[in-house]
Amino acid sequence: QKAIGIMTSGGDAPGMNASVRAVVRTAIYKGCRAYAIMEGYEGLVRGGPEYIKEFTWDDVRGWSSLGGTDIGTARCMEFKERKGRLKGAQHMIEAGIDALIVCGGDGSLTGADLYRSEWPSLLQELLEEGRISQEQYDRYKHLNICGIVGSIDNDMSTTDATIGAYSALDRILKAIDYVEATANSHSRAFVVEVMGRNCGWLALLAGISTSADYILIPEKPSSSREWEEQMSSIVTKHRQRGKRTTIVIVAEGAITSDLEPITSKDVHKILSGKLGLDTRITTLGHVQRGGSPVAYDRILATLQGVEAVNAVLDSTPDTPSPLIAVNENKIVRKSLVESVKLTKSVADAIKEKDFKKAMSLRDTEFIE
Ligand code: ADP
Repeated sequence: QKAIGIMTSGGDAPGMNASVRAVVRTAIYKGCRAYAIMEGYEGLVRGGPEYIKEFTWDDVRGWSSLGGTDIGTARCMEFKERKGRLKGAQHMIEAGIDALIVCGGDGSLTGADLYRSEWPSLLQELLEEGRISQEQYDRYKHLNICGIVGSIDNDMSTTDATIGAYSALDRILKAIDYVEATANSHSRAFVVEVMGRNCGWLALLAGISTSADYILIPEKPSSSREWEEQMSSIVTKHRQRGKRTTIVIVAEGAITSDLEPITSKDVHKILSGKLGLDTRITTLGHVQRGGSPVAYDRILATLQGVEAVNAVLDSTPDTPSPLIAVNENKIVRKSLVESVKLTKSVADAIKEKDFKKAMSLRDTEFIE
């Protein structure tokens, strides 16, 4: 009987609980044991039954609708060091885990990819130090690992949507609708700052959905003069046409083409100082992560959780580790290594000021 572990790692996202539920129940349905690794990679590094817990069918009852992640998540510095990963490997083997499913963002899946590539040498070291037996070495020498993307930013390449992104978008829309009402009453301008460090998906889609006046995202920067002038002329035009509200959405990672950050305060300065509008800043912060997942995230998390278990059960030492993606409305398996590499290359392209490349890698040509 195989044992399948599931963990949630990195930033929490609505729908992570639904993915844990799907993995646990599919694993049990397929005749395996299911284990929750508590607190992300921290749970692997610490080990023991407190952190690597067997879950039953009933343990995840009702989890589809719960926000956040009930098995906990953490940023684990120790796992970034080989020593931490070595402990993780030993604890996984001690608990008898045959396969690991990681639900997290690009950082967590980068960690998963590294863990997988290092696994043979970790096991060799554990064997040489007598921390595992030859029998354990033989049984666990292939690390069976699979990624599911849980991230509110929708910032992973090779998948159309990440678990949590549509819920966060929904929270942002509600907040902007509220702000819009008060803005209209006082004829005010609002600068709304939303999450998204390297990825402007939330800002962009929120802008489209709320008919914002202007949107600033990391993938499509311009010089400070350009954006200031463009925003001013658009806002002025809208006001001249009788609009009583102004909404400008800023992704937290918005930058100029010289890679200087553009903050809500910078935008406020233009709207208030240059255009003379009564302007307020609303930083949405963690409310974007809160609340129960929207239907799409529950469905995505469930279908991907089922597929993740299928993928680890199909895996052989020769198959590359999979990442479960959604492409054109179909749940598909992609290469974990390739997806992580491609995602990293978007951030690299932005750093190198090759914004055209960043856009094409992000598959966001539609911004044009
Ligand atoms: P997210 O998964 O939401 O992007 P982080 O970037 O904080 O969040 O990553 C979550 C955790 O994944 C980190 O705290 C760390 O334990 C692990 N991790 C991230 N990057 C690496 C890496 N390069 N090597 C090993 N582990 C990593």
